[in-house]
Amino acid sequence: MLREGLDARAAGAKFWGMIDPFGRAISYLRVSVTDRCDFRCVYCMAEDMTFLPKQDLLSLEELYRLCSAFIAKGVRKIRLTGGEPLVRKNILWLIEALSRHLKSGALEELTLTTNGSQLSRFAPQLAALGVRRVNVSVDTLDPDKFAAITRWGKLSPVLEGIAAARAAGLHVKINAVALKGANEDEIPAMLRWAHAHGMDLTLIETMPMGAIEPDRMDQYLPLAHVRAQLAREFTLEDIPDRTGGPARYVRVRETGGRLGFITPLTHNFCESCNRVRITCTGMLYMCLGQDDSADLRAPLRASPDDTLLSAAIDEAIGRKPKGHDFVIERRGARPAVARHMSLTGG
Ligand code: SAM
Ligand code: SF4
Repeated sequence: MLREGLDARAAGAKFWGMIDPFGRAISYLRVSVTDRCDFRCVYCMAEDMTFLPKQDLLSLEELYRLCSAFIAKGVRKIRLTGGEPLVRKNILWLIEALSRHLKSGALEELTLTTNGSQLSRFAPQLAALGVRRVNVSVDTLDPDKFAAITRWGKLSPVLEGIAAARAAGLHVKINAVALKGANEDEIPAMLRWAHAHGMDLTLIETMPMGAIEPDRMDQYLPLAHVRAQLAREFTLEDIPDRTGGPARYVRVRETGGRLGFITPLTHNFCESCNRVRITCTGMLYMCLGQDDSADLRAPLRASPDDTLLSAAIDEAIGRKPKGHDFVIERRGARPAVARHMSLTGG
């Protein structure tokens, strides 16, 4: 994507969308539709989270207008996330509205990242509205560990949700955060399970976002270590598949499936970053790992036409930083960014 952006500049703005100061073309928007969730995963939230007051939230109509403004500026892919996107009231209204951009061809892909707890109920409608793939977060297949990691979650509805999604024809990718002492011994079994069901598995390093009760040092499991362990059991063949995102993929010869590694701490992936994030209050975050943001709610509400909004987006993209500064190396260290992952979405 960096190349695409630089080529676009060299070609005199053949790419008419958003190009950041480092030549990266911004074509991917992640939208956190709510900061609320029916789980309290230990690495993501504090148990007694304070959520945003409901009156601060953008309405679904406003979120739609915001997304449409980004699509008009060249965004081709939108991922709805949260918090838990499927607990936002009337979320199907937004998905249906956005699906019009899929039908017109303006948007290539509309996807979700979900904890799967509500997926049984929503999967058929998601598929009918043109959603083709979903990422479901599952950190363990052990019901007791699942309850311990998510604090409030149960494994069986999530597994039922995954089955319903697959039955509805959705491609499911499993995301698992690698957690020291919690699921590290289970990763080979999760890999076999995901691949046996035709699902990719992506492992994620825990990122220092927001205050939580446990010390991140106790959770952090470098994926270089996980990969070395897996390589004793499986043949991992590097494959060049890139999504413009942080994941690096291998093909597992024994299972034939794909395994992704998201390693923000051990490897920096920022040079190919093609994405920005908006929160449910209309804050635009140009980088997951930096605090700089732009308020889009004010220009959105100031006028019914998009001139001010469009200018605010351009100004913010002009400030997209080169990369993040995530590091977990000291006990008791403050998080790299103060906000929780649930505010900006994963
Ligand atoms: N609730 C949905 C879910 O869990 O999939 C969507 C939002 S959640 C914030 C998105 C992803 O971020 C999940 O895969 C979750 O495991 C991951 N995540 C949350 N906090 C994280 C952290 N501090 N470090 C790394 N990944 C995190
Ligand atoms: Fe909720 Fe997802 Fe965060 Fe877990 S990771 S608490 S499911 S937002």
